[in-house]
Amino acid sequence: MSPTIEQHISLQPFNSLALPAYAEYFCSVSDEQELFSALEYAKQHQLKITPLGGGSNLILAGDLSGLVIHINTHGISHHSQGNSVEVTFAAGENWHQAVLTTLEQGWFGMENLSLIPGNMGAAPIQNIGAYGVELADLFVSLRAVEIATGKLVKFNKAACEFAYRDSLFKNVARDQFIILDVTLCLSTVAEVNISYPALKSALESHSGTLTPEKVSQLVCQIRRQKLPDPAITPNAGSFFKNPLISNSALTGLLEVFPQMPNFPQPDNFTKIPAAWLIDQCGYKGLTRGSVGVHKHQALVLVNHLDGGGTGEQLLELAEEIREGVWQRFAIRLELEPRVYGSIKEF
Ligand SMILES: Cc1cc2nc3c(=O)[nH]c(=O)nc-3n(C[C@H](O)[C@H](O)[C@H](O)COP(=O)(O)OP(=O)(O)OC[C@H]3O[C@@H](n4cnc5c(N)ncnc54)[C@H](O)[C@@H]3O)c2cc1C
Repeated sequence: MSPTIEQHISLQPFNSLALPAYAEYFCSVSDEQELFSALEYAKQHQLKITPLGGGSNLILAGDLSGLVIHINTHGISHHSQGNSVEVTFAAGENWHQAVLTTLEQGWFGMENLSLIPGNMGAAPIQNIGAYGVELADLFVSLRAVEIATGKLVKFNKAACEFAYRDSLFKNVARDQFIILDVTLCLSTVAEVNISYPALKSALESHSGTLTPEKVSQLVCQIRRQKLPDPAITPNAGSFFKNPLISNSALTGLLEVFPQMPNFPQPDNFTKIPAAWLIDQCGYKGLTRGSVGVHKHQALVLVNHLDGGGTGEQLLELAEEIREGVWQRFAIRLELEPRVYGSIKEF
């Protein structure tokens, strides 16, 4: 079947920041055959392709030319071996729903990543992570189609070049592939990972046996307390990555800012919480027209929707914050979500 290809479609309902922008051409594909038809259509009409999942990691600063393909494919399959199970999820599967499904099946490992918005196909793009676990820890392989040739390619973990909120697909393979499905290795043994400090301290009041289901519930509880729900307050989660600085830069900074939180990383680097840097500059709760910084979460920029914020307004605010942090700490903040439709490169 060929998908219906429409013109001039509003993407406001398709992005968690609810930013106003239009796709020149748009279609939603529910199986791989429809996806291949859409790619063929784009080739014939020389249209640029933009894959779209749940729209929770995008800043739409303007209209998108070419064809936006909403990946809406579904299906989960598995094969077990000993205490582990390899589970393959179609790209359109909702991430959090997938976490719940695996827990119901007695397959463990995804629980710390509960309630992350978006779909499976986008998870490898920035190697999603939270509460001490990242996708790379569970990842086996993915299948993708190369946009230029229509060729099917399988990527194993090493080939994906995963790093902190980063992968091959944000770098040399950017815009070249559409991910079709993702295979993760989960465990049938109910072990929990509660090494992450916020999780550990939340567990201090917990009594009884700690199961992966409990960890999932707890992660959901913490996330609901900490992060605004995009359905009520449109946002894209963390707007900036936590910067990595060299250990020698840290030594100099600690002389001036002894209270600066810092987390040692491999290769003589240290991670600094971007939220702390932004908070220290006094930006938490700042409003600029219809957009602003969340009043409790300095890392989350929001679209207040009253006057209808735009992507350009959000990017202006982000630039103001980046400049403020640079002036005070000489640390450059990098945007976490992908920017589309802006004349400026990010
Ligand atoms: C409230 C909130 C909390 C969040 N918390 C976290 C968190 O804790 N940890 C974390 O890592 N992230 C977090 N995020 C960010 C976001 O949820 C993830 O990055 C998620 O993986 C994005 O999925 P998506 O389907 O919405 O992707 P989209 O926003 O639709 O797309 C993101 C990028 O991936 C590309 N893409 C999408 N699907 C495909 C595909 N099938 N093939 C190829 N490219 C594709 C798009 O073109 C785009 O460049 C949060 C976001 C919000 C709104």
